[in-house]
Amino acid sequence: MTLTVQPHRETLGLKDGRLLIGGEFRETAETWTHHHPATGEEIGHFAVASPEDVDAAVLAARKAFDEGTWSRSKVGERIRVLRRYSDLLREHSDELRGLQALDNGVPLSFGQIYATSVGIAADIFDHHAGWIDKVGGQTLPPYQGGDHLAMTFREPVGVVAAILPWNAPFVLFAQKLAPALAAGCTVVVKPSEYASFCVIRMVELLIEAGLPEGVINLVTGPGDPTGEALITHPAVDKISFTGSRAVGRRIVEASAGTMKRVSLELGGKSPALVFADAPNVGLAAMTCMGMVTMGLSGQACVAHTRALVQRDVQEEFVATASMLASAVTFGDPFDPAVLASPLINQKQLDRVLGYIERGQQDGARLVTGGTRLEGDLASGNFVAPTIFADASNDMTIAREEIFGPVLTVVPFDDEEEAIRIANDTEYGLGAGVYTNDVRRAFRVSKRLRVGMVGINGFQLEPHVPFGGFKQSGLGREGGQSAYEAYTELKTVMMPLTDELM
Ligand code: NAD
Repeated sequence: MTLTVQPHRETLGLKDGRLLIGGEFRETAETWTHHHPATGEEIGHFAVASPEDVDAAVLAARKAFDEGTWSRSKVGERIRVLRRYSDLLREHSDELRGLQALDNGVPLSFGQIYATSVGIAADIFDHHAGWIDKVGGQTLPPYQGGDHLAMTFREPVGVVAAILPWNAPFVLFAQKLAPALAAGCTVVVKPSEYASFCVIRMVELLIEAGLPEGVINLVTGPGDPTGEALITHPAVDKISFTGSRAVGRRIVEASAGTMKRVSLELGGKSPALVFADAPNVGLAAMTCMGMVTMGLSGQACVAHTRALVQRDVQEEFVATASMLASAVTFGDPFDPAVLASPLINQKQLDRVLGYIERGQQDGARLVTGGTRLEGDLASGNFVAPTIFADASNDMTIAREEIFGPVLTVVPFDDEEEAIRIANDTEYGLGAGVYTNDVRRAFRVSKRLRVGMVGINGFQLEPHVPFGGFKQSGLGREGGQSAYEAYTELKTVMMPLTDELM
């Protein structure tokens, strides 16, 4: 039977997507047709914002910011609106998961995993609502004595352009919008053209929560023209972006003209260092393989896609990873038994298959997978979970972000070699260290040039900083530092006597 997701379109009452500019929903002359990645079916249409539409959205955000309806509103009111929104997200969790399944094909089963769920998005809004009445400035003592005040204040950075990728829209929407709105900024959000419907609904719920007109604006459409018009707009004060390194570079260039503030969460080629004394080599293998297959099929920036495994336990590691690979189920994302998604589009499918071919040409040992899934799944972008063993770190499959279900296993002999290989990359997002030796765990963690290390596993949570070293990005999302990234620091000084005048 041919796979179809069409009935869910009706059940979820999917409407064509519109822009939101200054509190008004608008249609556009040009629209984008979304095709489902699991079936190729036409799912729906949404507006493509032209440069003129983007200009109107940014100016609406500018006006709302300058008028201060949100940026200078009562702290208690800001807290109440964000907490109301958290509740609305929880109430609409099933609907949002369904819309995501129509957007990017992420199965409902994975939509429940905390790290990418609507639940974590709600918790992130709660977390940042909690900072609103707590983050302040300092009063500094006079450096050279005398009687004067030097104080610092935190003020909202202004108009924020929030640009999202398609793979984890709930959590990434929240990681940007929650601190921005908590800090008092106004926002123009642009979802990915491959995951717009669930973000459109998340924006509608923000209005329902009581956000004043113009504080949140929505532009949909592709990188060009919509994204380009946004990142080059002179009235944008800050760009907060999650996506590919190539677009991240373009944003840094585009921000230079007006010195926009920039936060970037880019890709990774994160290593897992599995030592022979790991508490459970099989569990380490399940974690790595799980991250490159389950749910997003490896289309996850933090996935540990480079498994550096001590030579003595490589075969044990590969055997368990292969077992998991054979247990992954694909198909209708609305079927609770389906565990993994298709690749997002034809371009990504070709790219991943190209890397698999390259791995074989370079001499890595293909243990399992490597092919497209056929039969009922032939019209979707499905690739079988793939493992390469006996790879070396100079091979393309060990250096470039594949963003697909491919685990590259590189054997090593000792701790020093493992650290050297782990750090031999342009990226620095995350890493895993698997060992029973607590001193080794911390010794190695300190030497790794990455933003996040998991020792024998990890859990992403709303209050922990998230982000990378090197070309994995700029700045951190999550926690107090994320809130502060949406503020400017202002110093105010005042002599208390005539002595210093
Ligand atoms: P992408 O860079 O192609 O697109 C991301 C967003 O940028 C989309 O909304 C797209 O329309 C927009 N865009 C594209 N060109 C633009 C331009 N010139 N100007 C402005 N906007 C533009 O990325 P993707 O394919 O959606 O996502 C995959 C990438 O995202 C991977 O590299 C992955 O590692 C990264 N990612 C990183 C994190 C993280 O937190 N570090 C999380 C998820 C994904």
